[in-house]
Amino acid sequence: MMNFDTLKARGLFDERLPRYTSYPPAPAFTADVGADFQAEAIAALEADAPISLYLHIPFCERLCWFCACRTQGVRSLTPVQAYLETLRKELALIATHHPGKLRLKQMHWGGGTPTILPPELIREVSDMLSEVFVMDHDTAFSVEIDPTLVDADKIAALKAAGMTRASIGVQDFAPVVQKCIGRLQSFEQTQAAVNMLRGADVASLNVDLVYGLPFQSIEGFAQTLQQVNALRPDRVALFGYAHVPHMAKRQNLIPEAALPGDRARFALFNKATELLCADGMVAIGIDHFARPEDSMAQAAANGRLRRNFQGYTVDGCDTLLGLGASSISRFKEGFVQNAAQTGDYTRQIKAGKLAAVRGYRLTAEDRLRSRIIEMLMCDFAIDFKELNLNEVDRARFAPALDALRCECEGMFEETPERLSLTAQARPLVRRLAHFFDASNPGHAGYSRVS
Ligand code: SF4
Repeated sequence: MMNFDTLKARGLFDERLPRYTSYPPAPAFTADVGADFQAEAIAALEADAPISLYLHIPFCERLCWFCACRTQGVRSLTPVQAYLETLRKELALIATHHPGKLRLKQMHWGGGTPTILPPELIREVSDMLSEVFVMDHDTAFSVEIDPTLVDADKIAALKAAGMTRASIGVQDFAPVVQKCIGRLQSFEQTQAAVNMLRGADVASLNVDLVYGLPFQSIEGFAQTLQQVNALRPDRVALFGYAHVPHMAKRQNLIPEAALPGDRARFALFNKATELLCADGMVAIGIDHFARPEDSMAQAAANGRLRRNFQGYTVDGCDTLLGLGASSISRFKEGFVQNAAQTGDYTRQIKAGKLAAVRGYRLTAEDRLRSRIIEMLMCDFAIDFKELNLNEVDRARFAPALDALRCECEGMFEETPERLSLTAQARPLVRRLAHFFDASNPGHAGYSRVS
């Protein structure tokens, strides 16, 4: 892989680019594609086609300073209960547009903190979902778990609702880091949550880590990685901290002077990669790791890895239905995003309209760009055979392909059927994907490339 100085000389650490969890990225969505488009797309869903579902619970008991998620701090369950009533109405609206039950292949509850829900509310949400959706025996159902806000009863309720994977937020175990990001969570608390999940037969565990946090050191992060490895997760997501206090106000509490510089961030990422791979994990895409027997590692090995708003996924469904405030839905026809603020989301649903307020209608050209970008982000390759480009498209993408070849000189192999990046070129992949991005919505909100 290219070393730090080479990447620095290429300007990689100064770039702010999309993470390409969608194409076009969400900043390209516009207000002229909203609830009416969403209603048509839902009505057009085939009765039997499997879909994915994302449910957003935008509430937390603690508000971690580093976090840029759409969520609000609450001290009682009153606003949560009110939100669930709106969710019930959103589901009823979906059912009016698509009276037959939709078949769930994948479901994810994220936030926010889904485990803020007590067992009776977990059951309530599960029951209301089952009015509109059917789960198969093999539906994959993952839930984001806050180890400081979970107990055996909540886990039992989630398991009864069908949870198959738990995604546990860790970020970093070092106390000096935790203090500076407003998130205290001991290894023992996390281990107790993991033990409860394993005891409840939750088959798969994911751990989320963040590098680039204040006061992170190689030694401290290495210790966190050893502790994480001791928990034996099946998957690890290793995200770079994006310091954007102009967009996420809480980040103003982060001591900027204590943030690691480019060289230190690069070293932190590489150290974590080294320790995870030494423990038997396989590196996947730009920021994920999985045990070789895990479905994500197998999907990556077989060219079936996909990208959606949660990052990398094995989910091959064309449709992702987003429920709740700020959720994004993906249909064959395009994307829509629900009103981001809970109040706006509630008002729209109470007015009897679906909750989308912005979106994007995909063209045939967008779909091709989307697939090329997804191939690069997932496979570090472009499969010309699968794309089957016609003459017009070949001419359309020629400048982007030439830019890629120039950027990666000596770091790719190409045949008429496929262009594959070598391992050396992998750190450049977001820049390479950007060559195929015609949406150009500006760079203000994007994260660092490394
Ligand atoms: S990291 Fe999790 S618990 Fe902390 S504010 Fe973000 S969503 Fe809430």
